[in-house]
Formats: sequence, structure tokens, C-alpha cells
Amino acid sequence: MSRLESFIRRLTAQRDILDQVCAEVAKIEGPVLELGLGNGRTFHHLRERLPGRRIVAFDRALAAHASSIPEAENLVLGEIRETASRFIGIGAALVHADIGTGYEDRDAVTATWLPDLIARLLRVGGIAVSGTPLDHPQLQRLAPPPSVPADRYYICRRV
Ligand code: SAM
Repeated sequence: MSRLESFIRRLTAQRDILDQVCAEVAKIEGPVLELGLGNGRTFHHLRERLPGRRIVAFDRALAAHASSIPEAENLVLGEIRETASRFIGIGAALVHADIGTGYEDRDAVTATWLPDLIARLLRVGGIAVSGTPLDHPQLQRLAPPPSVPADRYYICRRV
């Protein structure tokens, strides 16, 4: 598969999964955490699907489109491993992590700390969506929508 096809599949998977989980997240109290604001496309989508919900976005640096920049109090810059740790206990309804790099060795390092961080950020019953695997005893894997190939994107519930 070409990188272009892979990119299209990733974006389609993100949209379909976020649409599926937002219907459920709308019934769960708590903020949404966007780990990896990037261009802000998925942040913008979440903001449309969950109007009025607090969405806190994290990144190393601000590089989002002007239409997709959170309010200053909801933008946290720096290394996510450190910055998001300060939000442990916030009781998030949804954590969306889009910080995969496409490099197996780098993503393997992320997999050593991201699942535990997400488990601590979510309230019980909250949902995690991630482009990299979330192997953790408190994160129960859920089935993606039928349009999403297995192991393309990951959805879990905090138990
Ligand atoms: N979902 C975003 C969108 O729709 O525009 C794209 C996110 S982009 C693929 C990933 C972003 O995560 C990049 O902007 C990168 O700087 C950020 N990122 C990746 N790993 C990070 C880390 N450990 N700490 C802080 N930011 C990180």
C-alpha cells in the first residue's frame, strides 16, 4: 500500500471512530483530551461533534490552522509525557492520542508510557482512541466500526 493510501485510511479511520465514540462520550461527564494537536483537524472535528465540551489539546509546539486553535487555557505545550501527567486525575471522558510516527522503533518507545498515562487520565467508563496500541490491564479493547481495518486505530474503555 502506498503512503498516500495509508494516509487516507488513517484519516478515514479517525473520522469514523471519532464519530462512533462521540455519540457515547456525549453521555459521559468530563473533559476531552487531544494528545497531539498537530494541524488541529481532529480537534476541530471533536469540537463540532461535542459542542460546549472542554477540550484540552497538547503538543510540543503550536502548528495548528488558525481555525483550530484552542483557548489559551486549554492549550498545553511541551512533551506530552510530562505535560499530560499534570492532568492525572482529571477524569477525562475521552482521550484521543494521535502521536504515532510511522517509525516502529519510536512508536515502541511511546508504547512504554502512553497506555498507563491514558489510563490515569480517564475516568472509569471513559474512552481512549489511539493510533498506537494501548496495552494496559485497565484499558479494555473495543471493536472499531466495520469500516476500520483491524489494528489500524485502537479504541478502549477504561475499566
Ligand atoms: N490529529 C492531528 C490533526 O488532525 O491535525 C494530527 C496530529 S500529528 C499526526 C501529531 C502531533 O503530535 C504533532 O504535531 C507532534 O508535534 C505531536 N507530538 C507527537 N509526539 C509528541 C510528544 N511526545 N509530545 C508532544 N507532542 C507530540
